[in-house]
Amino acid sequence: MIIVMQKGATAQQLKAVKERIRKLGYRPHVIRGETRQVIGAVGDERGKTRLQDLQSLPGVESVVPILKPYKLASQEIKAGKSVVQVGRNVKFGDQKVVVIAGPCSVESEEQIIATARAVKEGGASMLRGGAFKPRTSPYAFQGMAEAGLKLLAKARKLTGLPVVTEVLNPKDLPLVKKYADMIQVGARNIQNFALLRLLGKARKPVLLKRGMATTIDEFLFSAEYILSEGNDKVVLCERGIRTFETATRNTLDLSAIPVLRQRTHLPVIVDPSHAAGRWDYVPSLSYAAIAAGADGIMVEVHPHPEDAESDGPQSLKPKKFSAMMEKIGEFARVADRDL
Ligand code: PEP
Ligand code: MN
Repeated sequence: MIIVMQKGATAQQLKAVKERIRKLGYRPHVIRGETRQVIGAVGDERGKTRLQDLQSLPGVESVVPILKPYKLASQEIKAGKSVVQVGRNVKFGDQKVVVIAGPCSVESEEQIIATARAVKEGGASMLRGGAFKPRTSPYAFQGMAEAGLKLLAKARKLTGLPVVTEVLNPKDLPLVKKYADMIQVGARNIQNFALLRLLGKARKPVLLKRGMATTIDEFLFSAEYILSEGNDKVVLCERGIRTFETATRNTLDLSAIPVLRQRTHLPVIVDPSHAAGRWDYVPSLSYAAIAAGADGIMVEVHPHPEDAESDGPQSLKPKKFSAMMEKIGEFARVADRDL
C-alpha cells in the first residue's frame, strides 16, 4: 500500500503513521517527493484492509494499493527516476551517462593501476575489477580475494575513481564492503535471496546484474529483496541473456531498457562486454545502449587482453576504449544526455 501524506504534513504526523504501520506488521519506507512524502508499507499482503484505516490519521491524504507485485521498485511508488550516488561525484540516473571500465579480474598491481589510469584518461568515471570471480570451471582463476580488493583501493587512491567489485559469497560481504564503493551482484547470484537480503542491510550501493535466464519481472523481484531491507541504492545492469544464438556469448536484450524504464524508477545500465563476448562488438552495443536511454555502461578493458586471466576476448585495449569514448558523447546527446 502507498500512504500519501498531505502537502504540509508534519514530521510528527509522519512518525505517527510510520509507527502505526509497524504496529500492523508492515515495514514503512519513506519516499520523499518534490512536494509531498509517501510511505510504502510492505509486508504480508493479507492484511490490506487494516492499512486502509490509516486514511483517518492526521496528515494522511490517501491510501492506495500498489498493483505491481514488486512494490518499492515500481513506478507506482515513485514515478520518474531515482538517482543513485556512488562516491562523491558519480550519479546513476542523472543527466550524465556513467561509464564504468576496467578489467574482468584484478590480476596484479601493475595491471590494475595501468588500467585505472588508462580508463580515467579515456573518460571513465568508475573503475571495475573482480577480486572474487564466479568461474564456470573450478580450475579457472578464482580471483585474488582480499589482495585484489587492496589493489582496487590503491587504484582508487591514485586515480580518484570509485570502484565496483563483485561479492560472490555472503560470508565475504563485510570484507568486500570495506573496500568497495559499490558492490556487484553477478548474473549467477541474482536469485541468491540470502545474499540479496544481506545487501539490503549493508547500505552500500549495489550493481545488480540480470541473470542469464532471468525475466524482467524476476529481475525486479531481486531488486525488491534489496529495497525491502532498507537499501534504496540499487542500479540494474542488463548484461545479455541466453538464447538459441551462438554467434555472441549472450544476446543483449536492448528491449530491457525501455521496459525497465516503464516499470521501475531504478537506474539501468548495460554491460555490452558480457553480452557480446567479443571486444569488436562492444562499441556498437555501447552506442546502441546509450541511444536507447541507458543510464550508463560497464565495459571490460585490459592493457594486454591476450594475457588476461579471464574474459580477454571481450576486453577492449585502452586505445580502443578511448576511441569508443570519443564517439559515445554523440549518442548521449541524441538521447538528451551528457557524457
Ligand atoms: C563480470 O562482471 O565480470 C561478471 C562475471 O559478469 P556476469 O555476472 O554478468 O557474468
Ligand atoms: Mn568478466
